[in-house]
Amino acid sequence: MAKYKIKILRDKCIGAASCVGLAPGAYQLDDENIAYVVSEEGDTPENILLGAQSCPTNAIEIYDAETGEKVWPKE
Ligand code: SF4
Repeated sequence: MAKYKIKILRDKCIGAASCVGLAPGAYQLDDENIAYVVSEEGDTPENILLGAQSCPTNAIEIYDAETGEKVWPKE
């Protein structure tokens, strides 16, 4: 089971692709240059979290898949 649940706020994404650079198995850009989730198990949990933290607009929210607790961004 994936460690994290990933939610991409697509209206916040500006296509900077740093998430893709850090965790390409989890994040990719679609043909509109907006990120989407390929697989929540497509990369290591560390890279998935780093990818989210690298997003300049905080367009990626990360939740603990087990508890549902929000991991990123921190409020
Ligand atoms: S890092 Fe953020 S803005 Fe850039 S592609 Fe990923 S989700 Fe979009």
